[in-house]
Amino acid sequence: MSLSGFIRFLRHSLQRLEYSLKQGAAFDRSLGPALATHGPSLLPTLQGIRDHDSNVPSFLDSIFWMAAPKKRRTIEVNRCRRRNPNKLIKVKMNIEPCLECGNLKQKHVLCGFCYNKVQIETAKIRRQIQSMEGGPHRAPSVETVVLYENEAPGDTDKDKRIVECARKRPSWFNL
Ligand SMILES: [Zn+2]
Repeated sequence: MSLSGFIRFLRHSLQRLEYSLKQGAAFDRSLGPALATHGPSLLPTLQGIRDHDSNVPSFLDSIFWMAAPKKRRTIEVNRCRRRNPNKLIKVKMNIEPCLECGNLKQKHVLCGFCYNKVQIETAKIRRQIQSMEGGPHRAPSVETVVLYENEAPGDTDKDKRIVECARKRPSWFNL
């Protein structure tokens, strides 16, 4: 580095030091805060609200307006619509009494009352089987016979699994 270059570098350094000292001591009045804004032009004034009164958004603008009927429908029209045969429940003509219990049921449909009885009885038998064998997956691979009160296993039931229930046999549960 030559002598003139060194002098230039020195002068530049001194200028920078002077500048930073001025700034630190707040001598330089031209520097303002970094985030200064023009306050009055941003903030709403009373005069500005009065001038733009017609352009102020109303609270009704935020409501989503639903489609509203333009004319009133008469009660006759409403009743015709409500009591249209297509909207009414169809009358069922395929009802018959159950042959087992006598409750009404649809034709070609299982009787709900009888089905409920079978479900309850089956649940009882299953519970007894579980108490006998101690688990659901320990069933022997042989046929099962359910014996009720005052019933003895026949000759053909010797090799089968026998479940004995200490109650009367239901009338609908045939052998
Ligand atoms: Zn029935």
